[in-house]
Amino acid sequence: MHVITVPVTPFAQNCRIIVCKKTNKAVIVDPGGDVDKITAQVASHRVEIQAIWLTHGHLDHVGVADILCKTYDVDILGPHKDEHFWFENLPMQAQMFGFAAKAPFYPTKYLNDLDSVKVGELEFLVKHCPGHTPGHIVFYQEQQQCVIVGDVIFKGAIGRTDFPQGNTEQLLTSIKQQIMCLPDKTIIMAGHGLNTTVGDEKSTNPFISGHFG
Ligand SMILES: [Zn+2]
Ligand SMILES: [Zn+2]
Repeated sequence: MHVITVPVTPFAQNCRIIVCKKTNKAVIVDPGGDVDKITAQVASHRVEIQAIWLTHGHLDHVGVADILCKTYDVDILGPHKDEHFWFENLPMQAQMFGFAAKAPFYPTKYLNDLDSVKVGELEFLVKHCPGHTPGHIVFYQEQQQCVIVGDVIFKGAIGRTDFPQGNTEQLLTSIKQQIMCLPDKTIIMAGHGLNTTVGDEKSTNPFISGHFG
C-alpha cells in the first residue's frame, strides 16, 4: 500500500490517495477541495482511480467529490446514511465555512458498520463512529495496520462536537469502542494534522486518558 497525502482547502484537510501497489489501483479519500492538486497527484503517480470514499459530510472533506466522480467515472462510497442532512445542507455549509457556493450532491452508496470496501487487493473494514457527526465512518486496513479516521480523533485531540447533531459522549464511545480497541501499532491517519498511533493516543491524548484512564 502507498499513501499520498494531499492537503486541501484553507483547513489543510488531508485528502488521501490510497494505492494498492500490486494492482496500481487507487481510491481518493475525502477530497475536500483543490481539485487540480488532487488530479495532478493522480496523474504523476499514474494510478487508476477506482472510487471515492468519504468519512463524513463536512464540506472540507467532500467539496470536490462530485467533480472527481465525473472526472474518473467512479462511485462515491460512504459515509453512513445518517450523514444525509450534511449533503442536503452543502449550500449552508459553504456559507458557514466561507467557501465558494456549493450545490447539494449525494454519495452513490451509503455504507454501514462492518461493510468492507476494496482498493485493488486491499480490503478496508468500515467502522461507524458517530459523535463529531452522526454518520461519520472510518476505514480500517488490518494487514497494513492503519485506519483513516477523518475528524474522529487527532494527534492529542478529538473531533469537535459543537455542530448540529454532534455529541461528545457518543464521540468518546466511538473512539473507545471502534479505534482504541485496535492494536497499539495501528497508524491513525487523521483528517487534519500529523499521523499518530493508537498506542500513542492511549498514553498521551488528554481526552482519552482522562476518560478511560
Ligand atoms: Zn468534520
Ligand atoms: Zn475536517
